[in-house]
Amino acid sequence: MTDYQCWFCGEGINQSDCGAVIITIENLWRWNKASSETDAPAQAVFAHRECAKRKLRGQGMEFDPGVFNEDDS
Ligand SMILES: [Zn+2]
Repeated sequence: MTDYQCWFCGEGINQSDCGAVIITIENLWRWNKASSETDAPAQAVFAHRECAKRKLRGQGMEFDPGVFNEDDS
């Protein structure tokens, strides 16, 4: 049993997924102002490593392998 559910596939995330991630979503412009609002609304979601890598594939930018607990060498 796990306390964390993958945002993308809905399955539980076990500790065996050592590269699982937390994704925090908040307003870009509020975040950009940063210092003044430390309690800005934000939501965190969780994801399996493979789901995040597949579903969050962007347009050219690569993830830092370290965020998935992967060696970048
Ligand atoms: Zn998943």
